[in-house]
Amino acid sequence: MKRMSSVTRGISRRRLLAGGSALGGLAALSLAGCAGGPSGTSGASGTSSASIGRVVVIGGGFGGATAARYLRLWGGNVDVTLIERNPDFVSCPISNLVIGGFKTIGDVTRSYDGLRAVGAQIVQGDVVAIDAGARKVRLAGGTEYGYDRLVLSPGIDFMWEQVGGLQAAVDSGAIVHSWKAGAQTLALRRQLESMPDGGVFALSIPKAPYRCPPGPYERACVVAAYLAQAKPRSKVLVLDANPEITSKKGLFEKAFKEHYAGILEYRPNAELKEVGRQAGALLAKLEFEDVKADVLNVVPPQRAGDIARSAGLVNINDRWVGVDWLTMQAQAAPGIHVLGDATFSAPLMPKSGHMANQHAKVAAAAIIAQLRGDAVNPTPVVMNTCYSFVSASDAVHVASVHQYDAAEKTFKTVPGSGGVSSAARRTEGRIALAWAENTWADTLAL
Ligand SMILES: Cc1cc2nc3c(=O)[nH]c(=O)nc-3n(C[C@H](O)[C@H](O)[C@H](O)COP(=O)(O)OP(=O)(O)OC[C@H]3O[C@@H](n4cnc5c(N)ncnc54)[C@H](O)[C@@H]3O)c2cc1C
Repeated sequence: MKRMSSVTRGISRRRLLAGGSALGGLAALSLAGCAGGPSGTSGASGTSSASIGRVVVIGGGFGGATAARYLRLWGGNVDVTLIERNPDFVSCPISNLVIGGFKTIGDVTRSYDGLRAVGAQIVQGDVVAIDAGARKVRLAGGTEYGYDRLVLSPGIDFMWEQVGGLQAAVDSGAIVHSWKAGAQTLALRRQLESMPDGGVFALSIPKAPYRCPPGPYERACVVAAYLAQAKPRSKVLVLDANPEITSKKGLFEKAFKEHYAGILEYRPNAELKEVGRQAGALLAKLEFEDVKADVLNVVPPQRAGDIARSAGLVNINDRWVGVDWLTMQAQAAPGIHVLGDATFSAPLMPKSGHMANQHAKVAAAAIIAQLRGDAVNPTPVVMNTCYSFVSASDAVHVASVHQYDAAEKTFKTVPGSGGVSSAARRTEGRIALAWAENTWADTLAL
């Protein structure tokens, strides 16, 4: 007990708060494992305590980076290797503001140096194969990494086959999705800048489930805010495959009506079947009509990232990875912990960066317990808050708390928890930016 309190003093209040939700009954065990270093880690400071196991993490987005960080923070010297194909972390949250011209790509880009500093090995590479039997992964180029436990947070990939001509149009650069942040974000910004005043920006939204339920409606708002200011004769056309707005419906309807009447038109049940071209314009082919656009932004239908599929982990609707929610292990392959958007969501659980961060904490705590031969926390609780900008400055939020239900073996929302904004506010816009900074810091050990 005496040792624990001295350790606790060495860890910032923010870190304790950030990690608290999923840690549950493992708190004492995990804190004891942080004794070695000034930043609350053991291996980074060169402590001589032996590693309790090797964990390879595939994917340095919200889920994977958080797992790497918390395995080091809580882990009693877990040997962590994070493999990510991109050199830097580029955040989808806030990227819609880059598309609107209200933030820069630099504002949403962070390095992996914080994770390096806490002792995680960061490898830039593309994992092309997982050998669950031999417990090793192979990178393009042939290098192999062995593991005791594997964490996989690959995000989503696209179901190109669902929309005729889409993959070729995206490959050629004629159409962008901007549903993975980075080059695609900048490409859409450039298309908007080149669009003539009086042009049409059409945004196609796939049927749910997809990554970030409110994200497309936020994008429609911030693009409309930009066009209203810079190219006021232009139009925003929202072609939604869903029968209605899938998140924060009343708040987005209000924003569409109050801020963007005359600029933005919302069409439900408008599923995109095919894309094409006609007389220089891009064409969105729906079931009963074709819509012309100067800029056509297609959010494609999605499924778990390709590496989850090729590893045989996708077992639900041929799209998602079913997991055991107490450990986040794939139903199809115990020993492989799958996080974030790639999972088949529990009821009312959104595919969000915040939720991927929470999944990672459940997994990190469970992996440490398993490596030590201890029982895993039987009652994890996770939470989510999604902020959306409805203009360059004003935002709204929806929040939820999810508790593990042992009888149904899934997470269920806690009755009376969470909530939704009563109206869009500038204060919420400031809180949304603070949420992003805090979540990046928590995820990346910044
Ligand atoms: C426009 C937009 C706005 C959003 N806004 C919000 C928001 O405000 N709040 C919120 O909580 N969420 C938001 N989201 C959702 C959020 O971005 C995702 O839910 C989150 O990124 C999921 O985390 P993940 O770890 O599952 O996947 P990702 O963060 O996508 O990470 C996956 C990583 O794995 C890497 N990878 C994949 N396969 C391999 C491989 N084979 N080898 C090596 N690396 C690989 C990828 O390069 C990627 O870096 C938004 C999304 C979008 C598109």
